[in-house]
Amino acid sequence: MNSTKLDFEQARAKHLLFKSKLRSILHGIHVEEAPVLSEYDCAVGKWIYNFALAEYGHIPEMVELEKVHADIHAIARQLVDLYKSGNVEKAKKGLQNMEDVADQLVALLTSVESLVEPQQLSITRSDGIEYKIEEFEAILKANIELDERIKEQVKKTTEAIERFQLVQKATQDAVWDMNLETGNIWWSEGFRELFGYDVSESDAAYWTDKIHPEEQENVKENFYNLINLKGTKWESEYRFLKSDGTYAIVYDRGYFQYDDEGKPLRGVGAMQDLTHLKKFEQNFLFSEDRFNTLIDTLEEGITLHDINGKITRANKSAHRLLGLTIEEITGRNAFDSRWKAVQEDGSSFLGEIHPPHLAVTKKQKQLNVVMGIHRNDGTLIWLQINSSPLFDPQTGDLLGAVTSFFDITERKKFAQQKDDFISTVSHELKTPVTSIKAFAQYLKRSMAEEENSKNHVMLKRMDVQANRLETLIKDLLDISRVDNGKLVFKPETFNFGAMLTELISDLQLITSSHQLIISSNPDIKINTDKEKIIQVITNLVSNAVKYSPNAGYVSLNVRRTDSQLICSVQDFGIGIPKDQHEFIFERFHQVERAHTNAGLTLGLGLFISSEIIKRAKGELWLESEFGKGSTFSFSLPLDC
Ligand code: ADP
Repeated sequence: MNSTKLDFEQARAKHLLFKSKLRSILHGIHVEEAPVLSEYDCAVGKWIYNFALAEYGHIPEMVELEKVHADIHAIARQLVDLYKSGNVEKAKKGLQNMEDVADQLVALLTSVESLVEPQQLSITRSDGIEYKIEEFEAILKANIELDERIKEQVKKTTEAIERFQLVQKATQDAVWDMNLETGNIWWSEGFRELFGYDVSESDAAYWTDKIHPEEQENVKENFYNLINLKGTKWESEYRFLKSDGTYAIVYDRGYFQYDDEGKPLRGVGAMQDLTHLKKFEQNFLFSEDRFNTLIDTLEEGITLHDINGKITRANKSAHRLLGLTIEEITGRNAFDSRWKAVQEDGSSFLGEIHPPHLAVTKKQKQLNVVMGIHRNDGTLIWLQINSSPLFDPQTGDLLGAVTSFFDITERKKFAQQKDDFISTVSHELKTPVTSIKAFAQYLKRSMAEEENSKNHVMLKRMDVQANRLETLIKDLLDISRVDNGKLVFKPETFNFGAMLTELISDLQLITSSHQLIISSNPDIKINTDKEKIIQVITNLVSNAVKYSPNAGYVSLNVRRTDSQLICSVQDFGIGIPKDQHEFIFERFHQVERAHTNAGLTLGLGLFISSEIIKRAKGELWLESEFGKGSTFSFSLPLDC
């Protein structure tokens, strides 16, 4: 189209489009054809300078039109410059101003039109004019489309801005946005809040001048070097002057953007104030020092372990007890081949059962574990060990374990001496008691005719006491065997039912006060130490008789489950108070009572029985109510 022959309608439409194109560009929308920024090159300009001024003369409205048109282009150029230099928001803000001026232009075009060509407004349009209307409509359509795209883009941008503002508010950081061409920096609210400076924009020196003099050059150098190298990620930790004159320790991170030719455009980043964190770290280090001093004063050995059980720290006592230097201890884990750890029975202490290893793998406390350590100097030391898993109080995640241990060598030695003594004495006692029993038997037989004589009665009582003494000695011997791990276990396959029937008929012979009744006794083959099981049943039956003086019978019951045999001995005697149940299987434990005449007992029978059942891989338990009787049951695995 001939640019000089624009009519007013076209001129108005052209400027509408100009306005929309510019708006699109500033909103980041690519438009195929950018608006012509020079007022002399644009269609309307050409029309004004080459045609309208000459045609309509320099009437005031025309002069005004020329001026407004020049203004529009000047503003447009300014906005595009702002946009290119990264001041997008400023450019967008200026749009409104340009649009106001553009509206003025449209109004002026109309008033010039009415002055100079009033007849044209009422012209009946020819073919040529219809063509103009089509073109105008096309321009309008393009305008509407552009407007739609702008709306969409504005929506997206607004959302992005809102998100950015939200993030900015949510972080305590000072967010910065630097124009890498001009060095201008935009600062978020956080900058004022963290450092006390009331600015939202500054130049680069404003920032670098506040970096601690000792670090300033360094920070500047690595910042600008990275930009020269076209690096995208920058980070640094430095001291930054606050408005109150103190320095904050900041961690600063930024991302740089470059255009297609590699020209630096923009850097966006955030400064984080680490002052409190650093102080906390320092305090922590200090308290860690105190912690070290404290644990070094403890008599117990202390070791800290990581989540794999590896020792990360050990105190002085650990070094003293283990006979290793702190360096030799740290870094070791339970599987370290240099540990020469043994169990109480002399077998080696395998890595997987080391208490700290179990504490971290099972996440459970390991208490009172006894371990022998063959130290490098050749001595054997016995330790009692506790190990607890450590968890993060906030997240509950496993952090590692702490282990404490103390020397029980002396205690163990003393216990050993005591056991040896008991063992020797009971051995020594066994022979004379057996002799006494034999003599008593002999005398009883030789006095068979005088069965009711006083001497015979005395002999009978002597026999009973000798039997009791023999049981006591046997218990003492058993206990020292249990303690020394010498409880010899000789498994054999036998019919449990047959064994029980025979045993109970034997026991009935020496039990006149109670009837021993077997309520159920299926044939079950089992493989275990028969003699030891007989010892357990004998103990349970004799307790049942002993502690149910007023009852007439004791009931025995055997049943099987899928994998176990369960044998129960039930009495209807004094029962055992609930609070005693957990202690009843401990050695020397006896329920306090005044109303039985059980005679001299040591409280060892149940302990020995439970140790035997444990060795047989079964369990011994109790159900009882005080005053109503007790049922002791034990289980044995069927595949044992
Ligand atoms: P003791 O030689 O003292 O009988 P045990 O270890 O066999 O030793 O038993 C420990 C204690 O448990 C007994 O002293 C008694 O107080 C209690 N006890 C054991 N069996 C029974 C039972 N059937 N009824 C009530 N109390 C029992």
